[in-house]
Amino acid sequence: MARTAVYPGSFDPPTNGHVEVVRAAARLCDRLVIGVGVHAAKTPLLAADDRVALMRELAEPVAGDAGIHLEVRSFDGLVVAFAGMVGAGLLLRGLRDGTDLDDEMRMAGTNAGLAPGLQTVFVPASPATRHISATLVRQIAAMGGDVSPFVPASVARRLRDRFAR
Ligand code: ADP
Repeated sequence: MARTAVYPGSFDPPTNGHVEVVRAAARLCDRLVIGVGVHAAKTPLLAADDRVALMRELAEPVAGDAGIHLEVRSFDGLVVAFAGMVGAGLLLRGLRDGTDLDDEMRMAGTNAGLAPGLQTVFVPASPATRHISATLVRQIAAMGGDVSPFVPASVARRLRDRFAR
């Protein structure tokens, strides 16, 4: 049975932590669909198309090495609706700390109520990336700091361009 997993997030911007979750995902599924969330109420730092392009570029080599099928698309609305649309049975989320656990447990319970056939799977962050958050990366980049310890080189370049304007 081919397993399809969905990995939803804002990825604003993609970080080394996100790439690590993709690495774990490649061991768990045959087809990975990364969903880049477009929230009408939030103004992102990077446009959805940019985030999709960066996530695709970062995830492609990982998926290629693992021999799994990869799709990266943007979505709006409910994660469970997106997962249903792409035929996913697994919903992947990363866990960094107790705050993530509280938030993610609430979300997993709610999603289980909305879509009983969709199984949430938590991926623990590694010691090397568990301190990384897209919010902090955005703040550092906005203040002209060096984000290269936290994000892949392509993302660091994109952020430099974004704030050079
Ligand atoms: P969202 O707005 O959906 O929380 P994010 O882009 O912030 O989107 O995160 C997407 C997913 O990646 C979440 O499950 C989050 O817990 C996980 N994640 C973010 N940073 C890390 C990290 N450093 N290590 C592991 N997982 C992470």
